Amino acid sequence: MRIETRAVHAARGHEPRDPAREFGEPHVPAIDLSTTYGFRTSSAAADSMEALIQGEAQAPNPIYARLHNPTVAAFERALAELEGADAAVAFATGMAAITAVVMAAAAPDAGMRRTHVVAVRPVYGGTDHLLTSGLLGSEVSWVAPEDVGGAIRADTSLVFLETPANPTLAMVDIRAVVALVRAAEVRCGHHVPVVVDSTFATPVLQNPIALGADMSVHSATKFLGGHGDVMGGAVATSEAWARALRQVRMITGGILHPLAGYLLHRGLQTLPVRVREQQANARVLAERLARHPEVSEVHFPGSSGDPLETRLLGTQQRGPGSVLSFRVREGADAARRVVEALRLITRAVSLGSVDTLIQAPAHLTHRVVDAEDREASGVPDDLLRLSVGLEAVEDLWEDLERALSAAAPGRGRPAGASEVEPAHRVEALVPLSV
Ligand SMILES: *Cc1c(COP(=O)(O)O)cnc(C)c1O
Repeated sequence: MRIETRAVHAARGHEPRDPAREFGEPHVPAIDLSTTYGFRTSSAAADSMEALIQGEAQAPNPIYARLHNPTVAAFERALAELEGADAAVAFATGMAAITAVVMAAAAPDAGMRRTHVVAVRPVYGGTDHLLTSGLLGSEVSWVAPEDVGGAIRADTSLVFLETPANPTLAMVDIRAVVALVRAAEVRCGHHVPVVVDSTFATPVLQNPIALGADMSVHSATKFLGGHGDVMGGAVATSEAWARALRQVRMITGGILHPLAGYLLHRGLQTLPVRVREQQANARVLAERLARHPEVSEVHFPGSSGDPLETRLLGTQQRGPGSVLSFRVREGADAARRVVEALRLITRAVSLGSVDTLIQAPAHLTHRVVDAEDREASGVPDDLLRLSVGLEAVEDLWEDLERALSAAAPGRGRPAGASEVEPAHRVEALVPLSV
């Protein structure tokens, strides 16, 4: 069935599971807030405990809420179904999910042995900080996508990339990176998991597992929740990796709260509709911003005219999504004036919500990244990131246009503005299937 249908019905049992029962399961999943679960016999409880210690998805007795929660498990099953993965494991935040991924990949024979991560910039500022700081005992090599294979060493525990990337919307060819890693594995003698942060694409636009990646990571705080009222993270993956992640989650305690699990499961039901509508708005704004004289560059998947991106859009990624970023021609001070002149669009970090949000990554989300590394990975001080919501697109454009003219006070719209070369060829966008 199609994604719209699966999103509405995934992991929602309406039929009676017990043949003796007249009525079905609840129409919406129950919110189970228990922190602990009673048991009748110690030996049955011990069997359940053992199953959970081994990383099983469930056991007859959930035992304790840090080990398993049925409401969270329903969200996990639904997300796994949308991602085409065996399983998904949910965490308190996206960063908790990424932390668990780094730990699980390092774990097998590691103890606290130093491990090596190969990663492609840019990634979310928090992820960059986590990997660069070495907090989890890993050393990181930042490389270009085509150099991933050569960077893999005997002690490499994972390859991490984000596509489309936060905040430049740069796209990485997942299949090509996987092929480089698989070839390098022969040389280094062990399996190296490829982890893709697919937060910007959502399962509606991209399924990294089907492209050969081992894990697809989401900050569920963004599009999956979609309303700016719940934090969460999730990893869709094979059952073998899911077991390892559940074991890390049990030890480190970063499990999703059941109320958050409920909201995220509900959020999935409208995800395809929200993604489609927000994307339609974003296309209009990307196109108009690219023609605006105060804008020097627009980043939006497929708009650069780069042949690789054009090919990936429609094969790897079914649509550009609804996050874009742009540079203000007059520089960082003008960008700040644009942001402060907005009346409708919310000045705030985060993204993927039903309302439109704007921020300057160099000042906020990517502030923790060294200025030099930021510049080198395409995040200058005058870059603004816009997460486009569900408002009427003409209201959004009026707000942006007025704020942009405030960026160059006294100058107004330059004469002959229409002769200014558009920053990007937006007509290069491929038609959408979503
Ligand atoms: C926000 C974000 C994260 C971190 O997620 P939190 O839920 O804030 O911990 C990770 N990756 C990307 C791409 C993000 O946008």
